[in-house]
Amino acid sequence: MEEVLRRFTEVSTDPYTSLTKWKEQTGKKIIGSFPMRIPEEIIHASGMLPVVMWRGNEAVTMGHSYVHNFNCGLTRSFIDDAVRDKLTFMDGMIFCRSCLQAEEIPSTIELNAPPRHFLYLYLPPLYPGSAFRDFFIHEMKRMKESLEEWSGQEITKESLENSIAIYDKNRSLLKKVYELRKKKPGTIKAREMLAIVHSSMLMDKEEHSRLLESLLPELEGRKEITDDKISVIIAGALCQTPHTAILDLIEEAGMVIVDDDIYIGSRYFANEIHSSGDPLEALADRNMKKLPPDPTMGDWKTLWTDYMVDKVRENKVQGIITLLIKYCPPHLCYYPDIRRRFVEEGIPEIMLEVEHEVVSIEQIRTRLMAFIEVIRGGV
Ligand code: SF4
Repeated sequence: MEEVLRRFTEVSTDPYTSLTKWKEQTGKKIIGSFPMRIPEEIIHASGMLPVVMWRGNEAVTMGHSYVHNFNCGLTRSFIDDAVRDKLTFMDGMIFCRSCLQAEEIPSTIELNAPPRHFLYLYLPPLYPGSAFRDFFIHEMKRMKESLEEWSGQEITKESLENSIAIYDKNRSLLKKVYELRKKKPGTIKAREMLAIVHSSMLMDKEEHSRLLESLLPELEGRKEITDDKISVIIAGALCQTPHTAILDLIEEAGMVIVDDDIYIGSRYFANEIHSSGDPLEALADRNMKKLPPDPTMGDWKTLWTDYMVDKVRENKVQGIITLLIKYCPPHLCYYPDIRRRFVEEGIPEIMLEVEHEVVSIEQIRTRLMAFIEVIRGGV
């Protein structure tokens, strides 16, 4: 078990080395895809490895000449990695229409560190009406044709169905790990869970599923640790990998994370497909699901607050910890409403503003201790 977890952690903390090695061993190409809605299955069906773009593991330096320092950590650090030639193992990059900051990255990359294959997708918002679904399908067809032309490999209906099945299997295994954590709180540490999900975004899916299958029975054998722990959910951290130091602090302070609403978490594997119809339509339907609500896509009828409150109730947790990425407008715009709703519902909530480089651990520790006091004292 320790070996599998070590492998997941290595991939998550140093994707540069593990992906370079993977490429040397397999001779295959790697395509980076921007979070959070690009259908990776289409890249997989073309025989290449899709990897979700990540926040780098170093402070941003040269990147600040190309991007505002009031951009979120993910966008700044990705550009920094690109202009410092740290991403040359990525043969291609696919971006999509998302938040304002994400929309300015592609042109910066195209001008200053162009990959060998580059594609920008106009994924539509989640508005009602068939026109939006049709447009999503249109964009996926464009993505498919572009990958076929560049890779020289046709993406057949069968290969796409096979990739969807491979991805569905991985999603269902990740779901099982999450169910186990809910059933036996404390069994899986937050940093382990992060490594499990994050490595799935960066590894060959079949290999990841094999490792998960071997890990699951071992995790089931672990003892539940609930003694006097405060049960919480973490939420937010759109697109961006949370700092493991903060996850550790939450646990050290006396809390146990039972579930989450973060992208490198339950949002990534939500909604399996299991469709026998047209694979592109099935992919469109998965990626246009209203839940979990996507704050970058402006569906004003599906309230993120409802989703979070439901999660708190379902999991019967005592509080919720918001991880708000500094300079993340989609989350910032929703946060006042989220906060007001938690107050109305009497749900204890604390917001930790997190940044790519600077995290004041001691300040966060103090705030978490105060949060526990509030929950214990019912203040
Ligand atoms: S949604 Fe937030 S975290 Fe994601 S790219 Fe936009 S600003 Fe950055």
